[in-house]
Amino acid sequence: MNPSKKQVLILAGDGIGPEVSLVAKELLDLLDKKFSLDIRISEGLIGGIAYEETGDPLPKETLDKAKESDAILLGAVGGPLWDSLPSDKRPEKGLLGIRSEFNFFANLRPAILSKELVSASSLKENKVNDLDLLIVRELTGGIYFGEPRGKIQSSEEAFNTMRYSKEEVVRIGRVAFEAARKRNNKLCSVDKANVLEVSSFWREIISDLSEEYPDVKLSHQLVDNAAMQLVREPKQFDVIVTENLFGDILSDIAAILTGSIGMLPSASLNDTKKGLYEPVHGSAPDIAGKNLANPLASILSVAMMMRYTFEREDVALIIENSVESVLSSGKRTKDIAEKDDLIIGTKEMGQEVLSQIDSML
Ligand code: NAD
Repeated sequence: MNPSKKQVLILAGDGIGPEVSLVAKELLDLLDKKFSLDIRISEGLIGGIAYEETGDPLPKETLDKAKESDAILLGAVGGPLWDSLPSDKRPEKGLLGIRSEFNFFANLRPAILSKELVSASSLKENKVNDLDLLIVRELTGGIYFGEPRGKIQSSEEAFNTMRYSKEEVVRIGRVAFEAARKRNNKLCSVDKANVLEVSSFWREIISDLSEEYPDVKLSHQLVDNAAMQLVREPKQFDVIVTENLFGDILSDIAAILTGSIGMLPSASLNDTKKGLYEPVHGSAPDIAGKNLANPLASILSVAMMMRYTFEREDVALIIENSVESVLSSGKRTKDIAEKDDLIIGTKEMGQEVLSQIDSML
């Protein structure tokens, strides 16, 4: 293997995963040629398809390939075929496994509303036009992982533990402050410091850290208020940083402001440049295999890969601008179409974006 090459592992997964990942692969091939990126692409199994072929939703061979990769691009996992499997065989186990194996603790979810899709948002135009916010969610700690946890059958009780160490808060805080620096120098930290000790600890640490970032204006909001503010005045936010559970909920609220889940990319990073890039959507079994899936979330996930792992902001912007140009031509997949739009399929949308990129260079 040539160590100077950029290794990208594609894990297409289930449902619409292979359809949108094929578009992303063609995009990577084009970028490789156009920008001499020296990308080497490999492919592997994850999720239900991996279970079918190997009996394991995250086979060792996939983990080995992932270890050798600089970036991983995931399609989606899951589907009704595997819903009744025991939890350690379910497709989602593959996804959680790869996140924890590489300690992808920082989940970045931009919620950007394309100006072409303002009317697809659940909010009024003046509330969301030009919406561009970034949620930085802590992904490997908090109540989803805290011990002790369990169900006590005898006393009919169940419990989980929300727990953070200083180190965990500092490292996600740094990611958020750095991201704010590259945007509008505005960071809102979300917690429940009026009730939870772990949240007042979180707030103290983020406040102390802010002394290292005097150029970033830090504010704090309680999570209940933040949820309300996201649907009342979302444009007040630029970067939001929060713990795992609160981030899970707030990022889905932010997602719906942008119209369709088929538009939203994400990046999960560790403290090297390695990253896991994936659309926010799932495997959409209802439309799988019908050339109906919107591939733009997958395409925009490649843009995030260019920005964060390969540090090619120029290439990321070319991809994002190409998506915007295609949308402005009125060509849409069904999920984002309005009455005068020309409805096209997954493959055709992919081709449109690729041709746009080709013509820009
Ligand atoms: P989903 O995101 O798959 O689908 C929700 C709705 O959005 C469906 O109507 C679907 O058709 C539509 N949709 C999703 N992506 C689309 C796209 N790219 N273009 C057009 N329409 C799109 O969520 P779900 O139905 O709750 O879950 C289906 C399966 O996916 C489940 O097995 C679930 O566990 C899994 N899932 C996987 C991931 C992941 O792999 N990261 C995330 C969420 C759900």
